[in-house]
Amino acid sequence: MSGIEIRNLSYQYPTGSEKVLYDLNLTIESGKFYALAGVNGGGKTTLCNVIRGFIPHFFKGERTGEVRIDGKDVQDWDPSDLAQKVGFVFQNPFTQISGVKETVFDEIAFGLENLGVEVDVIRQKVQDIIQLLGIEYIQHKNPNELSGGQKQRVALASIIVMEPDILIFDEPTSQLDPQGTEEIFRVIDIMKKKGKTIILVEHKIELIAEYADYVIVLQGGQIKKQGRTEEVLAEEATQDCGLGLTQYTLLDLAMRKQHMHTERIPITEGDSVQ
Ligand code: ADP
Repeated sequence: MSGIEIRNLSYQYPTGSEKVLYDLNLTIESGKFYALAGVNGGGKTTLCNVIRGFIPHFFKGERTGEVRIDGKDVQDWDPSDLAQKVGFVFQNPFTQISGVKETVFDEIAFGLENLGVEVDVIRQKVQDIIQLLGIEYIQHKNPNELSGGQKQRVALASIIVMEPDILIFDEPTSQLDPQGTEEIFRVIDIMKKKGKTIILVEHKIELIAEYADYVIVLQGGQIKKQGRTEEVLAEEATQDCGLGLTQYTLLDLAMRKQHMHTERIPITEGDSVQ
């Protein structure tokens, strides 16, 4: 079956004294947008690393239970097939830039080159992504000389050019100002419309409220709450769902929503503006 099925997943780091994921059960439907939320240390990044096969492949430790993508456990996937299936955009773009390419264009082309894709096809795909992200102005620059925000965009470009079915974002806008944040979310939204499955680790609740279909709140390695975004947000107003929102933030969200859905009434001749 397509999507991600997680059954009785537990995990303990080799250096840890206790499990950091505990008996998790989750179904991630393909083509949907999931936000992973909850306080620091809840297990969000660890879960993402399990889904992309880095745990226990690189981090070792003991993983029990099942994590199936399209019906096959990630531990049984060929690592390069899994890397193509699941794209991961890091919180820190500095760790994602290869450092071996002299231009942004070549940096974005790097993954496709490694796959042996034809040069003409690579050129076209890279040009399309550069245009989509609006980064034509830096395409000839050295990636090592970019600002944090520019590196974040290049990191995103070099992942989406590979066209993975599942995209995991670990706080992708941590280096960006509000305008940069909006641009990245415009691109994430386009990816969703193309049918990609999106998993987003995010603290900014207004972004979760606007874009995510579902919210999964992790706390102490367990699922504290999961459900449709609007349901979880509505419940948080009356009980603690682990999002840590104040009444003020909830009110602010409700007002934003109302504002988004209120049609602007045009001022016509004769109307008085108080
Ligand atoms: P979150 O992403 O929700 O902040 P993490 O997945 O980063 O949570 O961390 C979950 C728990 O795992 C925390 O207690 C953290 O200290 C621990 N942890 C994270 N990475 C490692 C590691 N490499 N080795 C040992 N423990 C780790």
